Amino acid sequence: MRLLIMGPPGAGKGTQAVSLAERVGGAHISTGDIFRANVQQQTELGREAQRYMDAGEYVPDEITNAMVRDRLGHDDARESFILDGYPRTLDQVATLDGILDELGSGLDGVVELVVDPEELIQRLLKRAETSGRADDTEAVIRHRQQVYTDETAPLIDVYSQRGLLMQIDGVGDVAEVSARIDDALPA
Ligand code: ADP
Repeated sequence: MRLLIMGPPGAGKGTQAVSLAERVGGAHISTGDIFRANVQQQTELGREAQRYMDAGEYVPDEITNAMVRDRLGHDDARESFILDGYPRTLDQVATLDGILDELGSGLDGVVELVVDPEELIQRLLKRAETSGRADDTEAVIRHRQQVYTDETAPLIDVYSQRGLLMQIDGVGDVAEVSARIDDALPA
């Protein structure tokens, strides 16, 4: 199964993506995780990405697109993957369409986790106390929500028009939300 998981920062995307990938037996591909690993290892990619991430900005599409193209070409992503945090811009949607075309595959569905924005800010501020992530300060958190609204929310309409969208209530404990996703997945 080839799925995207989308939702604003703090919606629990990462947590759900990891367990969903296990349940469907696919690769979990998180652009945020790949960027953070590169920052930690101080690679060239990490050095380029870090200043955007720390400011709560999106990394430029050309960098992100090249990274995803490479990752989706790996064997473990051939049959089944959960793409977490990508695409985030309309340009990335077009690139992903092209990559999947070249690979002769396509998406089976798009999971959107829906959570009220103020609830999200409160969750992220709580996470900030323990995460140590440089992008977990209140100003940056608010900025990331705004960037999501401006740049990524329009993608929901695109996938809805394609008949791929599954809107899932993201409020509740992890198991509850997982069960809602499983109920909505295509057979
Ligand atoms: P979030 O906590 O917002 O879900 P992620 O862990 O997915 O964040 O990503 C952290 C940061 O990595 C983003 O704020 C952004 O700077 C960068 N990033 C991740 N995915 C993308 C993407 N598809 N396009 C551009 N930048 C990205």
